[in-house]
Amino acid sequence: SSSSALNFGAGPAKLPREVLEEVQNELLSYNKSGMSIMEMSHRSPEYSKINTDAQAAIRELLNVPDNYMVLFMQGGGVGGFAAVAMNLINRTGTADYIVTGTWSASAAKEAAKYGKVNIVFPKPEKLGDIPETSTWNLNPDASYLYYCDNETVDGIEFPNMPYNPHDVPIVTDMSSSIMTKKVDVSKFGVIFGGAQKNIGPAGVVFVIIREDLLGKPMDICPSILNFTHIYKANSVHNTPATLSVYIMEKVLQWIKKNGGVEGMEKQSLEKSVFLYKAIENSNGFYSSPIDKKMRSRINVPFRVGGPNGDESLEAKFLEEAEKLRMYQLKGHRTVGGMRASLYNAVTLKEVKLLVEFMEEFQNYTL
Ligand code: PMP
Repeated sequence: SSSSALNFGAGPAKLPREVLEEVQNELLSYNKSGMSIMEMSHRSPEYSKINTDAQAAIRELLNVPDNYMVLFMQGGGVGGFAAVAMNLINRTGTADYIVTGTWSASAAKEAAKYGKVNIVFPKPEKLGDIPETSTWNLNPDASYLYYCDNETVDGIEFPNMPYNPHDVPIVTDMSSSIMTKKVDVSKFGVIFGGAQKNIGPAGVVFVIIREDLLGKPMDICPSILNFTHIYKANSVHNTPATLSVYIMEKVLQWIKKNGGVEGMEKQSLEKSVFLYKAIENSNGFYSSPIDKKMRSRINVPFRVGGPNGDESLEAKFLEEAEKLRMYQLKGHRTVGGMRASLYNAVTLKEVKLLVEFMEEFQNYTL
């Protein structure tokens, strides 16, 4: 049918309809070749152009300075956790990790296999609280300072750049926030993440890395995760996920056509403000577990029926939402409740429909 579902999934997530239609049109015969892009060599001129264009689009959209490299690899965000450590921690043998939620905790655990990991502050009592920077335990000799820009599971967005008095290279996981806001790339050592939320389908990891951080991988680093190898091979060190890179390139062009990162940021703010306002105005029927300062614009977890949630109401909420073709609103299995993910392809109109449903559900229930 021509009317699609409303997809609030956390990833893989909604892709722009126009992009999917374009892919559909080209699927059997790419560029009049009589072959699908899936069937072509990753060394073909067709794929080389897609690879180059995707890199150029990321450079343009994020204003990437010349001394930064844009790489594509596989292994997902989790592969990136290991890759970051194996490529960078060798410089001093130790790294600082800021842990604010599920994914940064997982990254720190992974990195500890390859070097000494220093946790910058102990787990706060309340999720989403960040202690005073004066209490942070930062190591001036850290190879890098790591944080997760947006904790997808918990709905926590780091409010700005972390405190970094020793000017250590900053590494950030932007799996769920890339291209949803302007970033000053020159302030980072590495920005990486999976593409499958804001810029494409699953199967490709983007890495934006400052040139001087290349060339110091651990000996054990597998070549497929070796940033230096990948850079030297222009991201075709081995067979890439060609279909995923091809679709990602189209999503990047779609972002360019739709106001660029600035346009995405504006829309992201509108969508999240609209939804959080509805939560705030519900007299406690809906509630956000995260402190206002740290709330994510992108992944909005909320409980139904009180601050700790009423599980039977929540089940009913999901059931009723699905009747309206609103899907993937169930929170992560580790945190429960609901979660609405508002990635780039999700429109303000769709968020308004969700809020309309939330209001109706509350009125009907009370
Ligand atoms: N980091 C973040 C912030 C994520 O949201 C995710 C996936 N939800 C990951 C890492 C892990 O990505 P993957 O499943 O591609 O390994």
